[in-house]
Amino acid sequence: MNKTLRTLPDLVQHDLVDENDLPALQTVVEDFSLAITGQMQQLIDKNNPDDPISKQFVPSAQELDIKDNERVDPIGDEVHKKVKGIVHRYPDRCLFMPVLVCPVYCRFCFRKEKVGESSETIAPDEIETAFDYIEQHKEIWEVIITGGDPLILKPAALKKIITRLNAIEHVEVIRIHTRVPVVDSKRINAAMIDALKCDKAVFVALHANHPEEFTPAAIKACAILIDAGIPMVSQTVLLKGINDNIEVLSTLMRCFIKNRIKPYYLHHCDLARGTQHFRTTIAEGQKLMRQLRGRFSGLCQPIYVFDIPGGYGKVPVGPVYINAEGNIEDYQGQLHST
Ligand SMILES: *Cc1c(COP(=O)(O)O)cnc(C)c1O
Ligand code: SF4
Repeated sequence: MNKTLRTLPDLVQHDLVDENDLPALQTVVEDFSLAITGQMQQLIDKNNPDDPISKQFVPSAQELDIKDNERVDPIGDEVHKKVKGIVHRYPDRCLFMPVLVCPVYCRFCFRKEKVGESSETIAPDEIETAFDYIEQHKEIWEVIITGGDPLILKPAALKKIITRLNAIEHVEVIRIHTRVPVVDSKRINAAMIDALKCDKAVFVALHANHPEEFTPAAIKACAILIDAGIPMVSQTVLLKGINDNIEVLSTLMRCFIKNRIKPYYLHHCDLARGTQHFRTTIAEGQKLMRQLRGRFSGLCQPIYVFDIPGGYGKVPVGPVYINAEGNIEDYQGQLHST
């Protein structure tokens, strides 16, 4: 398998960017990290200007077009940051971010200002402070390990974290947010499974945006996790020109289900800086959700959510089937009284 591409010269060498764009792209990568795993690179069809994998990971000069409503911290992590590595926004669950490094950097990432920054790496004493915070807050029922991508950690490092959380009595659920099973599948091996095994319920939430990401290696990595007794749910970002049509979106949802992964969230694209070219309108997202409903298995239905800028949390923004008069619309658009 090819190495991870990390620099613009790497991309030039693999014919993934146009040399004329280099000055602009240089500015882009100064602010927003770059990495494309060999696994993702192999999927890119260089003859397709709309390639859905390339669009997700190859930097573009469009990222320099920053809109007034876009923010450095679109979902308000800073507002609810308690100690380094802990974001506690909802009462019963908190985020724990042991790393801010990812195997790939998604150009639309809601934490694109933070990920890949060495200054954001958490030191061992800071990790202890984060565990203390969780220990002292008995209302924390679930810890969501995110970042960055926690499955980029070596199994031994991850095992230490899981073991420590496992020992906190009031933490009953551990959820891991990751893209590793699809972008760098070989990391999911016996040592990783051993690191994840504990007495608490461990869930893995997989971030995937296009059916092409489901390569045989990705399918196998997910099966290894699920066969080990780790349930999986999905997260997808709704992305213009990538998955914002019903054929791609329904195929993606079916890929999740076929592979025993329950569709969980379809995220409206957050207002991170320089991501306008990825964003649909909420009305467009609602239309897609209407197209999914009824025509595709109920198992294939994610919840369409928007994370309100400023740290107010995620809310469902899917279509509404009941109107002000109390009439209910069926999936084919016909109204019925209740
Ligand atoms: C997204 C998020 C969660 C998880 O929310 P769920 O609705 O439980 O998936 C928790 N905390 C923060 C700060 C979040 O951004
Ligand atoms: S893997 Fe997640 S955290 Fe990392 S760049 Fe992609 S969206 Fe951001």
